Amino acid sequence: MKIAISACLLGTPCRYDAANNKNEILLKKLQEHQLIPFCPEDFAFGTPRPTMDLVRTNLGDKALSNETGEDLSPPVISYAQTFFDAHSDIDLVIGKDRSPSCGVCSARVYNEEKNLLSSTQTGLMIREAKKRNIDCIDAEKFEGF
Ligand code: SF4
Repeated sequence: MKIAISACLLGTPCRYDAANNKNEILLKKLQEHQLIPFCPEDFAFGTPRPTMDLVRTNLGDKALSNETGEDLSPPVISYAQTFFDAHSDIDLVIGKDRSPSCGVCSARVYNEEKNLLSSTQTGLMIREAKKRNIDCIDAEKFEGF
């Protein structure tokens, strides 16, 4: 299978703090498959970088910088569109749980006062995959094939 996967799960140090989320157990389950890594935030903002949160606004859910309040959504969405255009034959996407970009059913969304509204939302990169009807799963929920 051709699987797109959050690069930090493979061990790439692309988290906001330049750490990674390497998941050896997950990687063992995937060793027979073709893995295509992605990291929209590293591509758009570099590493390390300030954190961002998904915030529900009148104009929809936006990824807002926790440092400046700037809307960081457009480059993340643009990266996702380009990525999935280039990889139209992806069978599955495995996203890093809880990420505002890569979470599948685990991203947190806040209101504009920064109160938590939900912790079962979908990150901005994964929303683009879902629009294309690609199957997606959070890494912590993946049990194998
Ligand atoms: S969760 Fe997604 S955006 Fe965040 S470091 Fe991992 S791949 Fe990059």
